[in-house]
Amino acid sequence: MPAPIKAFAFLISGLVLAFLVLTLLTNSQHIVQAKTFPVEIDLEDLLKNKCPVADGFDFPVGPPDAKGYYDAQPFGANYHLGEDWNGKGGGNSDLGDYVYSIADGIVVYANDAKGGWGNVVRIVHNIGAQNNPVYVESLYGHLKDVLVNQFETVKRGQAIGTIGNLDGFYLAHLHFEIRTNIYLGNGMGYSMNTSGYVQPTAFIKAHRP
Ligand SMILES: [Zn+2]
Repeated sequence: MPAPIKAFAFLISGLVLAFLVLTLLTNSQHIVQAKTFPVEIDLEDLLKNKCPVADGFDFPVGPPDAKGYYDAQPFGANYHLGEDWNGKGGGNSDLGDYVYSIADGIVVYANDAKGGWGNVVRIVHNIGAQNNPVYVESLYGHLKDVLVNQFETVKRGQAIGTIGNLDGFYLAHLHFEIRTNIYLGNGMGYSMNTSGYVQPTAFIKAHRP
């Protein structure tokens, strides 16, 4: 093959490969690997069929108003993507306290995420209408006990886990996030890029029952 044609063919095959990889990546964002299920689940289908419309939001500790708790590390402080909820008693006084779902929704993740996360529960909520859904996701990190299963529907105020300290790695607290992008996975907990995340307290106060 003459050199210019060879170069052209190389360029075209490169473009085709890039297109295929991009297509694969784009589609895979909408598939969650279901750890407790043997098959991959289409998240969009699952949500459409099972995710209830939320009738309002409460705080994840001391509901409805976080009575007895305070936010020790607000959203945005040190590039924090969530809020760290602690009992007012300080130290590990809140270890084992119940953590509650902030609204009706469906559990999309309930597992040990290892590393700095420990046990994590993520719940998707519909703040739109049944036939015109708008999804947000809440994340509850460093849980001691997990009381729900993946793909279970939950009610606002339902206990979903307990406050943990990652076997002494932290003082007990709940790391809590709310996302408007439900395809972020567990994420990093800290980032300069807050795209897809919202300030949890402000969101809850704007969406009371
Ligand atoms: Zn945190």
